[in-house]
Amino acid sequence: AAKVLKQGAMQKVVRLVLFPLPLQGHVTPMFHLATLLHGKGFAVNIIQTRYRSLDPTLFPHFTFHILDDDGLPDNATFGASNHTTILATLNTNCSEPFRSCITQILSKDPIACLITDPMWSFTHSIATSFSLPRIKLRCASMSSFYVYHSLPFLREKGYYPLQDTQPPKSVLYVSFGSMVEVTKADFVEIAYGLANSKQPFIWAVRRGSIEGSNETDPLPLPEGYSNTIGQRGNIVNWAPQQQVLARPAVGGFLTHCGWNSIMESISEGVPMLCLPFFADQNIITRHVSDNWRIGMELDKGIERGEIAKAVRK
Ligand code: UDP
Repeated sequence: AAKVLKQGAMQKVVRLVLFPLPLQGHVTPMFHLATLLHGKGFAVNIIQTRYRSLDPTLFPHFTFHILDDDGLPDNATFGASNHTTILATLNTNCSEPFRSCITQILSKDPIACLITDPMWSFTHSIATSFSLPRIKLRCASMSSFYVYHSLPFLREKGYYPLQDTQPPKSVLYVSFGSMVEVTKADFVEIAYGLANSKQPFIWAVRRGSIEGSNETDPLPLPEGYSNTIGQRGNIVNWAPQQQVLARPAVGGFLTHCGWNSIMESISEGVPMLCLPFFADQNIITRHVSDNWRIGMELDKGIERGEIAKAVRK
């Protein structure tokens, strides 16, 4: 529009139509912009709802239009509890009056551009139907834009909407990777250690990872174990580990210290309890506990009291 203004004949008026949402925090920046644009030589038309319309005599340099059929009573209050309903009502009721208003303005003058609040959801299709360029004016903090922009990505990754039901950093995730096998006695010891810790936990136990058992055997859990742990413990065959570690509710990882597990835990900022079995797991444990100090080793190995104490710590 500025280009048109510059190129146009000296006397030619370039008209902009601004349509603020009737909320003070939205009206204020729209009127600041209108004043600036008028100062640059544009003709400014303001379309207002009847609801909370401003007194046109206070802005004699603008041309005002009122959409009188906005469907809201004069005394409607726009607050945190009902803003969604009021926005929906305004959007439903103002669409056709807005179209008529644009038709009426166009019958007299060409419009170079529409500038609307993005919360007027119908303005995009109406602008398109008149082949009018449209700019959305939304004055909010950059950080909130950034968050809103990230929401689809967070939703796709499963971080949003928040599901999980445990308080932040309260759940222990337990997994010994894809190869480790434990004896039945050790498995029972770990089961008691987790139960006695009284912390919520998710334990990924690969079927067949208990020595002497195969994939179809039931887990050799102590009798009554499910009742003991109730809702507090969740034993699964396999977990989407990185996504589990990314959950805000997860506050610790009892791990065999496989390198991938360590990288994933570090990436998600989850401190570790180290229970190495073989290969480089012992070396990695040394780094995690003594050098990087982002976890601690189970000094006495697989012993229920030690496990419960370490988990609580
Ligand atoms: N893993 C998983 N779900 C499970 C257990 C393991 O997704 O229930 C993944 C884990 O995220 C890691 C890999 O399996 O990426 C295991 O690799 P790691 O180097 O930690 O241990 P390894 O299996 O080689 O001993």
